[in-house]
Amino acid sequence: MHELSVAQALVEQVDAVIDQHNAAQASLIRVRIGPLAGVVPELLATAFPLAAAGSRMEHAQLEFTHAPIQVHCQTCGLDTEAAMNRLVCGACGDWHTQILSGDELLLESVELETVPTLAPSPYFLTPNS
Ligand SMILES: [Zn+2]
Repeated sequence: MHELSVAQALVEQVDAVIDQHNAAQASLIRVRIGPLAGVVPELLATAFPLAAAGSRMEHAQLEFTHAPIQVHCQTCGLDTEAAMNRLVCGACGDWHTQILSGDELLLESVELETVPTLAPSPYFLTPNS
């Protein structure tokens, strides 16, 4: 399952972000997926909890931002949005287009939670321990 390795890579990326910010855990992970990325968001959403199990993002919510497909027309020179099954120029309809975006798979943002670091207090100890 391709999405599982994508999810594992995502977990590693988020893990690095958590470290960078000295956070305790991630609460929300936003991923930008273009229709041409070759990743099915639903499958990634299914694979993510498996990859994140036991990690500092196991309770994080996964959100997807759907990136549009943008093409550059070599005939009229305009950049327009295109449909996945029809990569033609939106202005003149020409097929001679170059894909500018829509194949990306990016970690867009991560919301982190920090747990306040309290000094261990003797009042929290039970007398018998
Ligand atoms: Zn055009």
